[in-house]
Amino acid sequence: MSAEDPKPVLVSACLMGRHCRYDGRTNTDNPLLARLEAEGLQAVPFCPEEEGGLDTPRPPAWIETEGAEAVLEGRARVLTDAGADVTEAFVRGAQLALARCRELGIRKAYLKERSPSCGCLQTHVGSTAVAGPGVTAALLRRAGIETEGAEGRST
Ligand code: SF4
Repeated sequence: MSAEDPKPVLVSACLMGRHCRYDGRTNTDNPLLARLEAEGLQAVPFCPEEEGGLDTPRPPAWIETEGAEAVLEGRARVLTDAGADVTEAFVRGAQLALARCRELGIRKAYLKERSPSCGCLQTHVGSTAVAGPGVTAALLRRAGIETEGAEGRST
C-alpha cells in the first residue's frame, strides 16, 4: 500500500448494501458511505455471521445476559430464537473480522448498531436492546481497533 492509497476501514457488509441480515434484508447507510468516501477511506465490507458459517436468511439470535465479553471467555452463549447454540459461528466470525483487520492494517470499524455481532453501544438480549457490544465489536475493541456504530436503513 502506498502513501496515496485510501486507508482501509472495516464496514458491516449490510451497511454497504449487501443483503446479509438474518432476514435477508440490508441496512444500506448512504450517508455513512458518502462520509467515508469524502474522508478518503476505503470501505472493506465484512459480515461476521456469514463469514462465521451461517446462512442467509437465518434465525435471529441473541447473546445470553452475561454479554459478549462472557461469550469470548466461554461463559455465555449465542442462541437462536429456537434455542440452537450458534456461539461457535459468532466467535469464528469475530476472529475472522479481526484477522481481516490485521491483514489490511485496519484500525477502525464502522458496525451496525444493535446486532449481536456488530452492535457497538447496544446489542440484543432476547428481543430487547441492551447496553453492551456484540461479539465482533467486543473482540475488535480488545485488539485495540476503534469501533463506531451506524444505523443504516432497513430495506
Ligand atoms: S449486522 Fe453484522 S452480522 Fe449482521 S448482517 Fe450486518 S454485517 Fe452481518
